[in-house]
Amino acid sequence: MARYTGPVCRLCRREKMKLFLKGSKCDTMKCPIERRPYPPGDHGRTQLRRKDSEYLVQLREKQKARRIYGLMEKQFRNLYREANRQKGVTGENLLRMLELRLDNVAFRAGWGASRAQARQLVRHGHIKVNGRRVTIPSYTVRKGDVVELGDKAKAMIVVRHNIETIDRQVPGWLERVGEGASVNVRDLPLREQIDIPVREQLIVELYSK
Ligand code: SF4
Repeated sequence: MARYTGPVCRLCRREKMKLFLKGSKCDTMKCPIERRPYPPGDHGRTQLRRKDSEYLVQLREKQKARRIYGLMEKQFRNLYREANRQKGVTGENLLRMLELRLDNVAFRAGWGASRAQARQLVRHGHIKVNGRRVTIPSYTVRKGDVVELGDKAKAMIVVRHNIETIDRQVPGWLERVGEGASVNVRDLPLREQIDIPVREQLIVELYSK
């Protein structure tokens, strides 16, 4: 499946907030948002004075969620359709499905400094679900699944460094096991356990037009 390969800091600047797409750089003064907190492009500064239309606010909210999880538009829209078919609140269903992606679980477990790095671990076959290697980043984990690092990944310097240095709390719906090389999916995530700064209702309004 295709993925965005352009400059990611531009995406944060477009959303006028940190989306934490780059791992450790995001917490330093090298983060471009610290120095240029306005949208990219020749007219970036003037956009700060503009009054956003209702449509634009909804669009930005959708783009923000899509970029945080690293999905292309088609994937994201398909996920929305699936969320809409399910029982319950569509926006919450959408966020829950995004959270349950295997690359996101690897990120939440602290194995990747960013979701992009976690996604690469999955693509390269370093993540196992219930003892079986899974190489599909969009794979949806289920309640009761055990997600763990493969033997090779456990010894990788970058993974060890991430486990030891990243100060990231595992969300309540996941349970870290042992020395951090394995997590159990205790439950399905509730909205209050998903800490991304997105108003999902606006995404639903956008796609319902
Ligand atoms: Fe976004 Fe991180 Fe780049 Fe800052 S360093 S703009 S938070 S991706």
